[in-house]
Amino acid sequence: MQISNLQSWLPAQRQPLIIAGPCGAESYEQVIETAKQLHALNKISLFRAGVWKPRTRPNAFEGRGEEALKWLQEVQKQFNLKTTVEVANAQHVELALKYKVDVLWIGARTTVNPFSVQEIADVLKGVNIPVMIKNPVNADVQLWLGAIERINNAGITNIAAIHRGFHFYGKNKYRNMPLWQLPIELKTILPHLPIICDPSHISGNTELIPHVAQKALDLGMDGLMIESHNNPKVALSDAQQQLTPSELNNLVDKLIIRNQATKNAEAINDLELLRNLIDEIDDELLSILKKRNQVVQQIGNYKKEHHITIFQLQRWQHILKTRAQLAEKIGLNRSYIEKLCQLLHDESIKVQNEVMNK
Ligand code: PEP
Ligand code: MN
Repeated sequence: MQISNLQSWLPAQRQPLIIAGPCGAESYEQVIETAKQLHALNKISLFRAGVWKPRTRPNAFEGRGEEALKWLQEVQKQFNLKTTVEVANAQHVELALKYKVDVLWIGARTTVNPFSVQEIADVLKGVNIPVMIKNPVNADVQLWLGAIERINNAGITNIAAIHRGFHFYGKNKYRNMPLWQLPIELKTILPHLPIICDPSHISGNTELIPHVAQKALDLGMDGLMIESHNNPKVALSDAQQQLTPSELNNLVDKLIIRNQATKNAEAINDLELLRNLIDEIDDELLSILKKRNQVVQQIGNYKKEHHITIFQLQRWQHILKTRAQLAEKIGLNRSYIEKLCQLLHDESIKVQNEVMNK
């Protein structure tokens, strides 16, 4: 897949790349005032605002539509800021193009639906506009990838993914679970794909945003999309998670920028030594796992000879309990070791099955 460098269509004002603006464009005054304050920070590369808001239930604020696109043109003119809006269907795209929006983004509720994404891709054929694709609400990397492919198949190479977290059932400190392994998996499949993190929709409240934003940078994400409103208290959508431009300024100043690599020779050497150590430990781990498997095979033979079932509930419960206790005692994360035991046990059952049915 041909994907352009992010820098070529969205150069960062400074590091890290920041996309900011209100959840929704509510009024001319709110849009202009927010843009004015954000522009004054000299940190923003792209001004975001939803003009069509996908709301969970009807009768909530659903955006100002076409009228708001005129306000965004004012933002371009008055502050020389590039703009981006969410599009969810062909008509949104046509209007966004008519009003010269600079970048489009596809929201999480749209990425889930291949029909909608294809409809957007179809009207974008032959159009040269960058598109950012949020992850689908459900934790499905293939669906996210599929949406990116559909947009790319329309001839668009100025593409970025936006990681905004995943829906889950039940209570949690996050509004949407970050599940960092998913953007990492996507990056592994498409190494050239820029990935921008949206800490606002992951957090759902202003307190968590700094931690999520820093974590995104620690993982090497390419930028941040953060909701900012001139007066969050009266925001018509996502009031609890929007920062004032001055709060955003403080947050960005506190972020620690990490580089993909270092030029410091001593640091490179230290990292190299530690990596060698990890390599050795992994070698050892694998030979221990090999030894474990050999014993598992012997157990399989024994069970076969004596007509005993492979799965032994009490033994399994004992293993899980004692390993978890030991883990805690020596300072290892309990749930990490439980997951590892589960993997070992699954493999053990598989190996014994093979032995028995040979
Ligand atoms: C938004 O960016 O305001 C939005 C609706 O986000 P999401 O698609 O991530 O829910
Ligand atoms: Mn929002």
